[in-house]
Amino acid sequence: MDKGVNELYEGVTIITGRQKYILPPSSFAEAHIGMMKPGEIKHQLEGVIEEVINGRSAEAPVIAEIIRKKGGISYEDLEERVRKHHEERASLLNMEPIKDEDVSGGGVWYFVVKRRGDARGERDRKVVISLDQRGNIVDFSCECPTYNKNLAKGNFDSLMNPKEIYGYYLGGNFGNGALVQPQRDVSGFPLFTTRIACYHVASALIQIAQSHGKYSLPFDFTNVAIFEALVMDKFKDRKEADIDDYLIRQGALTEETVRRTSEGEQTLEVAKHSTNFDKYSHRIIQGLRRMLEQREYSFSGFATDFRGTPYKTTSVVFTKRDGRSVHILCDSKFGAYDTLVDSELPFILSNVPVFVWTEEGKQQVMTEIGGNPIANTGTHFLRFDERTQTEVVSVITRPPRELLTGLEAAYGRVYETIMKEITPKPVIRQ
Ligand SMILES: [Zn+2]
Repeated sequence: MDKGVNELYEGVTIITGRQKYILPPSSFAEAHIGMMKPGEIKHQLEGVIEEVINGRSAEAPVIAEIIRKKGGISYEDLEERVRKHHEERASLLNMEPIKDEDVSGGGVWYFVVKRRGDARGERDRKVVISLDQRGNIVDFSCECPTYNKNLAKGNFDSLMNPKEIYGYYLGGNFGNGALVQPQRDVSGFPLFTTRIACYHVASALIQIAQSHGKYSLPFDFTNVAIFEALVMDKFKDRKEADIDDYLIRQGALTEETVRRTSEGEQTLEVAKHSTNFDKYSHRIIQGLRRMLEQREYSFSGFATDFRGTPYKTTSVVFTKRDGRSVHILCDSKFGAYDTLVDSELPFILSNVPVFVWTEEGKQQVMTEIGGNPIANTGTHFLRFDERTQTEVVSVITRPPRELLTGLEAAYGRVYETIMKEITPKPVIRQ
């Protein structure tokens, strides 16, 4: 198995109270289709198939592949696949998902959302969404397994200073004015819970946005082949994080989403399924974490780097309040596998937003890199940071020597050997 972080979802991430909410575009794309009338789904599917056959849509590789092999995809094919995925039911395609809705004066919305699977086996899902007066999410909840998945395991977050947590008031559904002490990790940082906006929550949010105009959706699928996303899932069992990446690459983020992210109101983060680090890289990563925490960085989850390249990876993210961030890169894709210690060697990607870099009077950086990022170790380069949707000046370095000697005397030499094999290829932008 490849070494690195195994992603589950990627999406727009907001923090309210002690919850981290991830809104993946894959949930919204599917809910968008779920909320179409059955006739419209058939009509749109036929339209997409025709576009792919006529070569007008180059952006739907999975649909194109199925057409090449089988000549096409009929509505009945889709229905059959949906049934296979959802306990022999095609409710996703032929049933209106919103069964009941109600709203309180305080901006709390209650929904009953139909399940896509066997409704006889389990109840419909109750969804509760709280919005503030400006239409921002305060919290949301659902009864389904996706929402209730335990994503917090080993996944603490210390975006808040531990000193400040004492005076912290938990609002929304959790608050009654009482001070609540969040759980802490071993370093004394508060534990955050990560929640995913599932299909049901996404359907409810679409309903609030489209029927009531009280919420602004983070995604716009007008020019995005959402049927490709549906086919990736129901025909190919591609994981949601891949569908999220596809939708983000196709331009699903609204201008508003990009603006709010680049202004620091929210981020684009990855919910992990699992991490697969060998013991040496794990020890280096733990060492880096301790070192970074001493420098006032805190663990901030996971994010995608180098999107749209063969080196796309999910890194472990540490952030600092001045806007700087450090991403730890550790992935088989970089080819930094060392046979001596049987380990994938981690690298440090340090990022400074361009505006901070400029404010500090540093020399302008024009270098961009291509190919294997770790081949450019030691070179400052310009990069688009997916997590913050901003331009950053980055540099990739090896873990500091003191950390390596403390762990394993051979490591320093190991990095030297690996680095000789990967030749740097910096590209200067004209
Ligand atoms: Zn749900």
